[in-house]
Amino acid sequence: MERRVRVRFAPSPTGPLHIGGVRTALYNYLFARQHGGDMILRIEDTDSQRFVPGAEDYINEALAWLGIGIDEGVREGGNYGPYKQSERRDIYREHVQMLLDAGKAYYAFDTPEELEAKRKEMANFQYDARTRLSMRNSLTLPADEVKAMIDRGEKYVVRFKIEPDRDVEVIDLIRGKVTINSSILDDKVLYKRADDLPTYHLANIVDDHLMEVTHVIRGEEWLPSAPLHVLLYEAFGWADTMPQFVHLPLLLKPDGAGKGKLSKRDGDKLGFPVFPLEWHDPETGAVSMGYRERGYLPQAVVNFLALLGWNSGDDQEIMTMDELIAKFSFEHCSKSGAKFDYKKGAWFNHEYLLREDDATLAQLFKPVLEANGVKPEEFGDDFITRTVALVKGRVSFVSELWDQGKFFYAAPTSYAEKDIKKRWSAEMPAIMEELIGVLEGIADFTSKPSEDIVLAWIAEKGYHLGNVMNAFRLTVVGECKGPHMFDVTELIGKEETIARIRRGIAEIKPIA
Ligand code: GLU
Repeated sequence: MERRVRVRFAPSPTGPLHIGGVRTALYNYLFARQHGGDMILRIEDTDSQRFVPGAEDYINEALAWLGIGIDEGVREGGNYGPYKQSERRDIYREHVQMLLDAGKAYYAFDTPEELEAKRKEMANFQYDARTRLSMRNSLTLPADEVKAMIDRGEKYVVRFKIEPDRDVEVIDLIRGKVTINSSILDDKVLYKRADDLPTYHLANIVDDHLMEVTHVIRGEEWLPSAPLHVLLYEAFGWADTMPQFVHLPLLLKPDGAGKGKLSKRDGDKLGFPVFPLEWHDPETGAVSMGYRERGYLPQAVVNFLALLGWNSGDDQEIMTMDELIAKFSFEHCSKSGAKFDYKKGAWFNHEYLLREDDATLAQLFKPVLEANGVKPEEFGDDFITRTVALVKGRVSFVSELWDQGKFFYAAPTSYAEKDIKKRWSAEMPAIMEELIGVLEGIADFTSKPSEDIVLAWIAEKGYHLGNVMNAFRLTVVGECKGPHMFDVTELIGKEETIARIRRGIAEIKPIA
């Protein structure tokens, strides 16, 4: 019988969720939704030394912002909880005991000093089938002594007893079959008595099994752990419900940052975020930039991330979440690392701004207006929406709407020198005076009728169209660029248009 698809995103709350982790979460989500399955968020916090306050909330907030829905988790609840590993100690203890009872794991009492001495004595020392019988553990010590040591509360770890010389096969849905020999693996620590906690490997396998996970989709950095995980499934007798493994390609440095894995430093150096949300380090107070605070739309970030390591197979680049869910497949995931082309991220944002509805953008633009000293309520939603519609084609970020459209909200306070040089000849003030007269006579000041009248006047007078229109624009906008001139004048109105021309005539001096 086909099992219901169940996937999990299993971050460790050791700091802000990295953008690579977000991509892992996204691929899990896309796959779960495509198959009508379940998406679990499991918090892997068994490493108490690396726990960072705020990291768990950050993960929840980031996923919610991006629309990556969670079906089961600490907040959502579910039938397979608790979903936080530090609350599952009893379960792990019980499972460690199962392996001990079956002779598949053993107690080891070696102190850090003893292990260090061994490492000095033997080059490439590894705790495994060749060396375990020369160490202090329940395989070499008499049973009553082992029991006495445990009863005395001596510190110990439980190690996995790996049978040597076996070819272990990992079937990965992106990479195919990966085979390694078990002799290269060491007897991994599964449990530490000192903190009464399992290690990642044990907790991860036990939880994936108990939570009935069918597909383990995670970053490539976990591929080396996969053979050990296969052996653990077998040791527990769970081989027939072992999940499918999928190891996603690494995110690599962008062009211009050298080779290797994408790092926070690359982002700092080249000016792009590697975290979904801004992160305030609770210890140092340092602030790391986030996509949200940088003005990215969540749909754009999702689309951009989806294509880092996967392609649609048909060159389509702009895809909604629903389209991504429909098209996603491991066959179109690449084995090799994906270069983090952050400039493409800005391009996606531009594309999504163009598609975003103007009224929504107007709401996002309001804080930017306020930051620039403009009171949005003095202009009203309709006005703001119309200005956004006229300039959004020129920007990648909402914040840039200000630079492109500030003249809608205030008359220019200076005039671009290069435009004055090119367009403001000695006879221009007189022509602009004449233009004022023409504009005063226009009854319907909307774009098209005003344009027709002004152009007819220019033609009749035999003036140079480009020179007159650019001088006009210079007085109204402050420079010779921007949206269609008569769309601008329609919005700011007749009175304001004329006032700006008057001011231009008074203030702009020809530059020889
Ligand atoms: N806790 C691991 C991490 O932080 C999970 C790895 C896995 O998905 O198995 O990435």
